[in-house]
Amino acid sequence: MRIAVSAVVTVALAGVVTVVIQAVSPDGRGNASQVKPLREPTGPPHEDLRSEATQPNGKVVYLTFDDGPHAQHTEKVLDILTQYRAKATFFQNGANAKRYPEITQRVHELGHSVQNHAWSHRDLTTLSAQELLDEIARTDDMLGSLTGYVPKCLRPPYGAQNGAVTSQAAKLGKRVSLWDIDPEDWKQGRSASKIKEHVLKEVSPNEVILLHDGGGDRSRTVAALPGILEALKARGFTFKAMSCS
Ligand SMILES: [Zn+2]
Repeated sequence: MRIAVSAVVTVALAGVVTVVIQAVSPDGRGNASQVKPLREPTGPPHEDLRSEATQPNGKVVYLTFDDGPHAQHTEKVLDILTQYRAKATFFQNGANAKRYPEITQRVHELGHSVQNHAWSHRDLTTLSAQELLDEIARTDDMLGSLTGYVPKCLRPPYGAQNGAVTSQAAKLGKRVSLWDIDPEDWKQGRSASKIKEHVLKEVSPNEVILLHDGGGDRSRTVAALPGILEALKARGFTFKAMSCS
């Protein structure tokens, strides 16, 4: 009797194994879209992107846009990114997201990453412990309520950080995330061609590029963006959102 039961279990297990094998055959990759949704509406959407970046032939850059969302410039940036099938990371101020919630939602829905750039763009190193907590946590709450995803990266305004900033960020489950290349699109009088030239001269694979879609007139950043994407694409780069996990 025991033998008979055991045989049934074996057959049942063999059946399970067969099903699993069929799910990932015939090319070894399976059809991921049937097994698992491509996007998890409530989870971090860009969890695995760093692993793509480390593929042998992958040349990836990480475009980042700070200080938005902005009523005009963010939408223009989004349209250009869509045109080039590029993904990016948007470090948003909570106060701006409160003002333009539908733009924050659109950024997220298009598959870009929305991350924390504090509430009101103050220098976080000058704040009291309570003010520092408020700046970061209020932004988490606002962005989380709009996207369903609580940011895991903090980019402090001006890149200004100290021990208090990094430890408060860590307590709230996020890491401080700066950049590798700053083409100074925030500088007054900086032309679109200078912004583009700077990026194209300096960029290497896996680097993070600092740009801005808010905080002032960003029409020169918008004007520079198609040329940057076109030239980097021609060099074999792809454009991913940061994983922040
Ligand atoms: Zn900023």
